[in-house]
Amino acid sequence: MDFDLFVIGGGSAGVRCARIAAGHGARVGIAEARFWGGTCVNIGCVPKKFMVMAAEYGAAVEDARGFGWDVAKGAHDWAALLAAKDKEIARLNGIYLRLLEQAGVKIFEARAVFVDAHTLDVGGERVTAERIVVATGGHPTRPEIPGAELGIVSDDAFYLESCPKRIAIVGSGYIGVEFAGIFAGLGAETHLIYRQPLPLRGFDQDIRVGLAEAMAEGGVVLHPDTVPKSVALDGEKKCVALSDLSVLDVDEVFFATGRVPNIAGLNLEAAGVETAKGAIVVDADLATSAGHIYAIGDVTDRLNLTPVATAEGHAVADTLFGNKPRRVNLEHVPTAVFSIPPIGTVGLTEAQAARLGDVKIFLTKFTPMRHQLSGRTRKTMMKLVVDAATDKVLGAHMLGEDAPEIVQGLGIAVTAGATKADFDRTIGIHPTAAEEFVTLRTQTRVAGPEIPPE
Ligand SMILES: Cc1cc2nc3c(=O)[nH]c(=O)nc-3n(C[C@H](O)[C@H](O)[C@H](O)COP(=O)(O)OP(=O)(O)OC[C@H]3O[C@@H](n4cnc5c(N)ncnc54)[C@H](O)[C@@H]3O)c2cc1C
Repeated sequence: MDFDLFVIGGGSAGVRCARIAAGHGARVGIAEARFWGGTCVNIGCVPKKFMVMAAEYGAAVEDARGFGWDVAKGAHDWAALLAAKDKEIARLNGIYLRLLEQAGVKIFEARAVFVDAHTLDVGGERVTAERIVVATGGHPTRPEIPGAELGIVSDDAFYLESCPKRIAIVGSGYIGVEFAGIFAGLGAETHLIYRQPLPLRGFDQDIRVGLAEAMAEGGVVLHPDTVPKSVALDGEKKCVALSDLSVLDVDEVFFATGRVPNIAGLNLEAAGVETAKGAIVVDADLATSAGHIYAIGDVTDRLNLTPVATAEGHAVADTLFGNKPRRVNLEHVPTAVFSIPPIGTVGLTEAQAARLGDVKIFLTKFTPMRHQLSGRTRKTMMKLVVDAATDKVLGAHMLGEDAPEIVQGLGIAVTAGATKADFDRTIGIHPTAAEEFVTLRTQTRVAGPEIPPE
């Protein structure tokens, strides 16, 4: 065999797995067809967050006036933002490649396809490996409506030549709401069209309500309970026909309607790798139906987040080559939505927890200190979901500035099984918004199994 391990895909999951396995002394090869660092670095988390930051600067300039600054918001230079973003991404691509090279991984800049269970065709070259890891990620989809090809998906949004003046975003998962904040913040007339009554299905109900209010206040035009029926071109304009029989005329249509794993064309059948619902099926050790082939990250379509992908890559490498068998625990994974304002959340929502038994809810909503002077109408919301029987904090949710930074720390507390009493005996840091999480004294309500799912 040419390699002890061959990794298909140089994204978050694959790079971590290859690098750690090589560090354990394995002979490792990796193939990447497009860009080192994969989705997160090139067309995901990283450029997205730069664009969110760009949008936030506009509001920060407005807010600064309340603090005595004589400043006015000028025009935004989209091309300058994209050039700065591309420069930083090129630097990150180089770092990923160097990390692999320094670890002694053999690099293939090519597409890999299975020939049989131990053989791959990598850009025309045959390679054999004792074990193979599939880390090919996923890609965005479009709805099956007439004219869907006229719209863009998130991959395209990072390379637009200019910021559209009017944009319709379809879908209110985290990518949809994040881009709504970006485009609205950069000055576009932004419409968010979604099937549900509230955005962010699956998140805590109070947070969903709070986000809808905050987005509307931030200038996003919300179209709940609505789906697009078709898209048509009228000169330069794109006309989106909606289920409420209205037609939206915009410069761009953005489908944030879901993602599917990259399995097409891999010839998984030749290797005996089973799939279900378009994703590779894995066991608790991330092994596929072909025991020596593993699948990690978004290609398994379970919890599609970068830290999960890297943790899985690391665990597989440690288990196979580091003599440290271990599994990734997907319970209590903290996560963020970089909407404006952002969300941080860990653990169970009120509805999820209430299905297991009675829960005590502690909820607070207040104007953060910054906006007492800025004059911006924006509330921060914090919520703890506490098991009435054990006093354990089952979920912590926040909508408001710095929420992702704050909830990362709470993730440790929830993972460690902290009780509400532990939160209460923790001294706050003053003056912060975060201190509210340890001073939530008044119970808002008790919820039980009767509350409907989000
Ligand atoms: C717009 C957007 C924003 C996001 N924001 C966040 C966020 O804020 N936080 C967060 O945690 N997650 C975020 N994510 C999710 C995150 O990007 C993914 O969970 C993560 O990138 C998954 O890593 P992966 O290694 O499984 O797949 P990927 O990063 O997609 O990597 C797969 C790689 O495999 C390559 N490849 C595919 N097929 C082949 C083949 N046959 N041969 C060789 N190479 C191949 C691809 O080119 C790609 O580089 C975001 C995603 C998107 C789209």
